[in-house]
Amino acid sequence: MTSKQKLAARDRFVKALMKRMTLQEKLGQLNLLSLGFDVTGPVLSEGVEDKIKAGLVGGVFNSITPVAVRKLQDLAINHTRLKIPLLIGYDVIHGHRTAFPINLGLACSWDMGLIERAARAAAAEATADGINWLFSPMVDIARDPRWGRVMEGSGECPYLGSAIARATVHGYQGDDVSKPENAIACVKHFALYGAAEAGRDYNTVDMSRERMMNEYMPPYKAAFEAGARSVMTSFNEINGMPASGNKWLLTDLLRKQWGFDPLVVTDYTAINEMIGHGMGTEADVAALALNAGTDMDMVGELYTRHGEALVKSKRVSIAQINAACKRILDTKYELGLFADPYRGVTEERAKAEIMSADKLQLAKEAALKSLVLLKNAGPVLPLAADKKVAFIGPLVKDQRNLIGAWSGACDPKKAISLWAALEAKFGTGKFAYAKGCNLVDDPKMIARLNPHDGQLTVDEKSPAELIADAVATANDSDVVVAVLGEPFGMTGEAACRSDIGLLPNQLELLKSLKATGKPVVLVLMNGRPLTLAWEAANIDAILEAWFAGHMSGPAIAEVLFGDANPCGRLAMSFPHNVGQIPIYYNHKNTGRLFDPARDGDKFVSRYLDVPNTPLFPFGHGLTYTTFEYGDVSLSKTSLKSGGSLRASVTVKNTGTRAGTEVVQMYTRDLVGTLTRPVKELKGFRRIELQPGEEITVTFELSSKDLKYYVPGRGFRAEPGMFKVFIGGNSEEVKEASFELMARG
Ligand code: BGC
Repeated sequence: MTSKQKLAARDRFVKALMKRMTLQEKLGQLNLLSLGFDVTGPVLSEGVEDKIKAGLVGGVFNSITPVAVRKLQDLAINHTRLKIPLLIGYDVIHGHRTAFPINLGLACSWDMGLIERAARAAAAEATADGINWLFSPMVDIARDPRWGRVMEGSGECPYLGSAIARATVHGYQGDDVSKPENAIACVKHFALYGAAEAGRDYNTVDMSRERMMNEYMPPYKAAFEAGARSVMTSFNEINGMPASGNKWLLTDLLRKQWGFDPLVVTDYTAINEMIGHGMGTEADVAALALNAGTDMDMVGELYTRHGEALVKSKRVSIAQINAACKRILDTKYELGLFADPYRGVTEERAKAEIMSADKLQLAKEAALKSLVLLKNAGPVLPLAADKKVAFIGPLVKDQRNLIGAWSGACDPKKAISLWAALEAKFGTGKFAYAKGCNLVDDPKMIARLNPHDGQLTVDEKSPAELIADAVATANDSDVVVAVLGEPFGMTGEAACRSDIGLLPNQLELLKSLKATGKPVVLVLMNGRPLTLAWEAANIDAILEAWFAGHMSGPAIAEVLFGDANPCGRLAMSFPHNVGQIPIYYNHKNTGRLFDPARDGDKFVSRYLDVPNTPLFPFGHGLTYTTFEYGDVSLSKTSLKSGGSLRASVTVKNTGTRAGTEVVQMYTRDLVGTLTRPVKELKGFRRIELQPGEEITVTFELSSKDLKYYVPGRGFRAEPGMFKVFIGGNSEEVKEASFELMARG
């Protein structure tokens, strides 16, 4: 069948089905409920079971075993009037059962093939568990590391974020979502969720159309272009209207202007929360959401409660309900659920897929590629195996935190700690260990995190005793590796921080280790860019390991001892301090530029107490080798509308070992109708070079790549001078110029 014929067959089927449905049954399809679950099996509440049997549920989520899913589909198929199967959703964020690095870490790989393979593996595990709908990718651009959810996304860059969005959607959906190993993606959170004021979750977003279209919307759009079959609305308001009730967003922009027609589901009780936003009663907000084009109500149950009355009173048209219901049934049809509601789910298949050897191997590759070497003075790294190394810190032996936040189906006990990996590699008794401090000391913070599976404990020894032990251990060694960071619960949803430095007790430990005079390597496990001004000035080497998933330990051990060469590059800027936030590489200039060479200038745009630039910029990451860039050469210096040019650079490995460089190309539009960012990423290439090897990397740049959005005029490239920058991070670049001759 051609795709046209397939669509026609789907439409015939759904039309015939909808003819037989009552209004309440249609509203039932718009209802998405959450089920509790535990590791031993489903906890199916009576209410949900009855509602499914009454045809009042279109989908469920949080049920993640083949047995549970078979039971649920059985209820929907064999105990309802119309036998409509359920959508089965779940938050598969960075792996399903096999934990990959948190998404911000994975983004630092800049490896789209890897990201697609990781998504593929996650879909294979999730579908084996009976899930057919993945609440991911999260593509919200984020420039504020106080926001806990930066760990779930791809950082600050719309270009990199768009590439990752595409790779993830392809990985999940494959070439045909009806295949049992594929699932539908749900791009989220539409829209602009990452721009919450002051980095506080769920907070207000107020943004110009120009910034929205140029800087925040591209990754959502890229996900739709890649075929994302569904989208989740965000909790935030956008310029005064919450996303779930925002007709401009969901109908005018998404469906009419962009021409996509995905299933639109809300975030968790987001329709009900419009009451809190000040949008009226339950009935008012349900009407608002339906009329905006929101198809499915996650957990709030307002559509089933108020839908009939809203249609009767003509506040919502039946056409609106029909359109929403059709999108949901279309999706089910495309997933093949009407042909086989169980999609071949068996316990045997789950056993074969879940945490299979190839997935663990992939998770290790992903962990290795997500590690970012921020600093390496000396160089103190890699460590020589014959040195006396002391491993110190509460995360050396930790398993719980390695899998990070949003890893509900992953078993932390299967995570390989750094210590376990060291023992596997070198045998027991080779290295010294001291805990040094509690991961968290503050009882108030522990009380906040532990109810959410924080598993934080306080050592019997006092903080002073822990530090004294650690200092003694350090004194008896040649080099110290301190493994510190955040508890995973201080990252993720509703986990924002106003101070994003190391916790005070950890910093105290680090300062005591520094005072021993031994070289200190800091390995960080955390979910956001941290403020590391003291650490960067005083610690010899810093390896950003994020929460790197089940295979964290082996990956970190290989990098520390030089079996692997670190190759990650930051997907998000690290500020000197919180006062610099929001901070991002693609910012604009002011009219009062600060020139660091003229430090005495007064009336310029600067801080008196900290540079304008970040501590570690976007794109930064060191390796155990060095790369030298030649000059940028352009195939032409003038570009016609519709034309393209090639920008080339030679990159040479000037060190003594093989390494990976991520060559990054940025552009700048020097004069525009509106002001333009100082740099915008437009291309990147991961290359591997042997020592002494030199290669020429060529990027193609077309006039289309130079387009940007001007309200009232749409996207276009404007004639004038442009710069091209190429380098190994967003700050250290070589440049060349060209002119765009006519509007593109
Ligand atoms: C989160 C979503 C998630 C949903 C369902 C919400 O609280 O914001 O990202 O998909 O819960 O678990």
